[in-house]
Amino acid sequence: MEELKREARRRLLERRSALIRLGPGRETGEERAGLAEARFQVELSLRLSERDRHELEEIDAAVGRIDRDAYGKCESCGRAIGRQRLLAVPEARLCLTCLLGAQAPG
Ligand SMILES: [Zn+2]
Repeated sequence: MEELKREARRRLLERRSALIRLGPGRETGEERAGLAEARFQVELSLRLSERDRHELEEIDAAVGRIDRDAYGKCESCGRAIGRQRLLAVPEARLCLTCLLGAQAPG
């Protein structure tokens, strides 16, 4: 599990920087350095699509769970999210059973 968490953390942070590069990417490095962090966050949220912003939030939440040692537990039923699922979707909050249950019509 420790190894899985390390791997998940690495992949999450990688995706995170990739997403952020999609955002305020037009500035040069110098301009970027001149932006205050708060301003940078605002610019980022204006330029990222709804979907990318959501993904960024999920990634931050997942990294937070890894750091709090709450990673890999289904938020709905409390059971372990399968290793295969975490490898496929490192930011998963729900186990496959709950995910499918939540999506089922009716
Ligand atoms: Zn579950």
